[in-house]
Amino acid sequence: MSAAAEVQFLRNIQRLLDEGDFVATYKFALLQALADLSVEGAGDGQDALVIPLERIAEKFIEYYWPQVVPFRPDSDSTGILQQSTGQQASILNELLQLRLATGGKVQRARQNTLLWRRAVRKVAVTIRAMPLWKLQVVAGGPEEFLYRQADFKDESITLLPGIASHFRSFHGLVLRLVRGRWLERVRTVKSNQAIIGAEADLEAFMFGTDRKALNGFREVLREVDGLNCFYCNRHMSIVPEVDHFIAWSRYPIDLGHNFVLAHPSCNNGKRDFLADLRHLHRWSTRNRQHGVTMATGFDSTGLPHDLERSIAIAKWAYAHGEDIGAHTWLTGDQFPKLDHRWRNVFASASETLPEPPYTQ
Ligand SMILES: [Zn+2]
Repeated sequence: MSAAAEVQFLRNIQRLLDEGDFVATYKFALLQALADLSVEGAGDGQDALVIPLERIAEKFIEYYWPQVVPFRPDSDSTGILQQSTGQQASILNELLQLRLATGGKVQRARQNTLLWRRAVRKVAVTIRAMPLWKLQVVAGGPEEFLYRQADFKDESITLLPGIASHFRSFHGLVLRLVRGRWLERVRTVKSNQAIIGAEADLEAFMFGTDRKALNGFREVLREVDGLNCFYCNRHMSIVPEVDHFIAWSRYPIDLGHNFVLAHPSCNNGKRDFLADLRHLHRWSTRNRQHGVTMATGFDSTGLPHDLERSIAIAKWAYAHGEDIGAHTWLTGDQFPKLDHRWRNVFASASETLPEPPYTQ
């Protein structure tokens, strides 16, 4: 992919955000969905990528799910933030119903196949009617650089060749741009200003990790991983931390198989780095051997998980890391440079993949 094409892509994204005219926040959700689904899809994104509208709808549900409760937990439904300068965005009302019917956890809603499918279809209809054609209308008319409206068929859009690859290269950047604008939009809705107040952390509310859920993940992980630290394999006599194996800052999502238990010191040592190949190997092996058991545990407590997506995200994160010359974290202050060998971890699905030697 040429540098000129990459610059043009970023310019176009910026134009959509600057000049596109939108009443609701759907534009932001749609852009984020396209970026995320480019990462979670197979391949390197060089080819055209077909994305079913229902996949986009499921993403909308995930993004808006935590935002459809009152901003201050002790207030009633009048404390729910407006996602539109007009009436409340209709998708939010749809999700409010789904939340009420299924108890508040997105995984529980997903398990209720009938209600989930119904909500997905309704959200998909709204996406098709609104943001899908509006997204690429900027001052001066349509600029169809992501997908062509005319190509819409079988309820799918097709990202033009190379677009998914750009989203994979600049995922972090696009996400920060989109979320920054999304926050701004919610803040500028007049009726929201009284709800939010001056000091509140709106970003954590809208896009943060669910801290309460981490305890539930910890219990399930303990069953599989035992009481030793995932990274140093030493006993943990204190309450272990629940670590995002692919760091939250790289890809902000809470999915069960991405978590490991670690000493606070090991967690702090790793920070936002990619873990060394030895850790990656162990993570991959654990999920291969115990993935189903873990899924059952997550399901029983209503925690989100999707092993296939977790693996796709990890592959993307390491490919991206290799591209930009990232260092990984092994232990203490050892940060080996990432090289192509991470691919071997995923290349072999067999149980016989040798454990890389520990050299410290
Ligand atoms: Zn440790």
